Amino acid sequence: MGRQNHSHLGPNDDVTVAIHVLYYGHSLCALPGVPRDWPEGHKWTTIANAEHATCETCKEEALRIQSPVEASDASAARSNGT
Ligand SMILES: [Zn+2]
Repeated sequence: MGRQNHSHLGPNDDVTVAIHVLYYGHSLCALPGVPRDWPEGHKWTTIANAEHATCETCKEEALRIQSPVEASDASAARSNGT
């Protein structure tokens, strides 16, 4: 079953495939499992550093999470009814 991934990093460990945004233990693009389950070269950053992410899906989701909630004007619309 599980092949132990003893990553012995050599001088050419520059194999970054993508940098994802980790949010509550999972990537925002819904990669399966946790970072140590991901294929080699996939890395992650925190949502606070989402600008450094190279995964477009993660980046978009991070921006969406961090941006102010726009749907809240629904409650403003409700309050003008008399
Ligand atoms: Zn991602």
